[in-house]
Amino acid sequence: MDKKTKIVATISDSRCEPDYIRSLYEAGMNAVRINSAHASIEGANKIVDNVRKVSEQIAIIIDTKGPEIRLTGMTDEYAKGIVVAPGDILNIKGTNKDLRSNRQIIYMNDATVYHDVPVGAHILIDDGEMELIVTDKKDETLVCQVQNGGVIKPRKSVNIPGVQLDLPSVTGKDKEFILWAITKDIDFIAHSFVRTKDDVMAVKNILKEHNSPIKIISKIENREGVDNIDSILEETYGVMVARGDLGVEIPAEEIPVTQRFIVRKCIESKTPVIIATQMLHSMISNPRPTRAEVSDIASAIYQRVDAIMLSGETANGEYPVEAVKTMAKVAAEIEKDTACHTPDSDMNMVRINNEITAQLARSAVRATLNLPVKAIIIDTLSGRTGRYLSAFRGHKPVYAVCYRKSVMRQLAISYGVHAMYREPAETHESFLLSILYYLEDKTWLSKEDMIVVIGGSFGAAKGASFMEIGTVINLEHKALNRR
Ligand code: PEP
Repeated sequence: MDKKTKIVATISDSRCEPDYIRSLYEAGMNAVRINSAHASIEGANKIVDNVRKVSEQIAIIIDTKGPEIRLTGMTDEYAKGIVVAPGDILNIKGTNKDLRSNRQIIYMNDATVYHDVPVGAHILIDDGEMELIVTDKKDETLVCQVQNGGVIKPRKSVNIPGVQLDLPSVTGKDKEFILWAITKDIDFIAHSFVRTKDDVMAVKNILKEHNSPIKIISKIENREGVDNIDSILEETYGVMVARGDLGVEIPAEEIPVTQRFIVRKCIESKTPVIIATQMLHSMISNPRPTRAEVSDIASAIYQRVDAIMLSGETANGEYPVEAVKTMAKVAAEIEKDTACHTPDSDMNMVRINNEITAQLARSAVRATLNLPVKAIIIDTLSGRTGRYLSAFRGHKPVYAVCYRKSVMRQLAISYGVHAMYREPAETHESFLLSILYYLEDKTWLSKEDMIVVIGGSFGAAKGASFMEIGTVINLEHKALNRR
């Protein structure tokens, strides 16, 4: 399908057979996310091996648990949870030990909460299902009043909006998964609860120590992350607007505004951005989306995001292939509409920063608006030229030849880029001839089509330095004469 917006699908080890992954890939999935909060290393290994059996082009993202707080497990008596009513008083303590909770004391898995959480703070449990207010603090205990009735279940998530907690950037479990990801040649680490650029640096330092090309996607899921977005963008490769936790940490009505704000910041800085969570939530159990879900996807595409993500819909839902197909169909339809808009103001918002590659990328995309250009063709050593072209959100495909498989896969989350791997070519001419013959063979281009080519005259490592526009036949003749 001719869609430019990329699709990320969350996969669990309970359903990851190659045939299943292939059906999602053929429906339009470009990247797989493995959520380490719900996976073992063994399960994650199985998913990665099966994804690689289907296609080398599918990017793999490992999502860390990050510095999140959870309740501990419960004693046997409360294995199914603690039933509470509005007005009940609960005693909450933090612990770094493996202590189990009960009706008298409920433990959270972080020992510092007592010091950081003030009286009056709201404690939200289980994605906000249960709300408590801290009414007193004594003997290392937070005394809390229950606001709504229900069941407090073991190991559920805890959010304390507006309170900055002194949590480590990377937990022991995160480190274990990051080291495993390095050995498995994974493409991205999506790090949860990124609050400051130090959280990004903590992951980056581990990757650097092991000389790993893995790139970091920062999951923005609380107020601190939103407030520090500029400095986070200086260090991160990509961003995920993780609306699940974000919708608990900040009021739901602020989510659309925050999403637009982050997407804009990402486009300005040429940073790939993914919108996540509840995009097709009803399709976990229904074969058709709600009108509101279709509109949510459309609104993300009108905002010009790089990628949209599925979570439970593909991890354990009943209609996973239909969900990917729905996203792909909506994306293709909305992109047709955005193609009618003149994106000049959007293009001007992307920062050039004195970079030749960015200037060339903008000129190439502008050329596709003013001339009957069919496609842009590039080769990209680090992926930067591909990413920069993507940032201008052109309406014509960008065919990107990559000389490393990791780079090809990293471009799988960039809007409008069709990346492919080739052995390094000796000259610009031989790269161009080989890709043009390939695209003609696929019938994606024909001899009379006009194309834009971006290349470098000073060696691959020095980056792009020129742009050429012509028909396929003329560019082929010139390349053959010079070869
Ligand atoms: C989210 O909170 O929106 C998210 C994507 O993270 P997770 O699926 O790990 O909760």
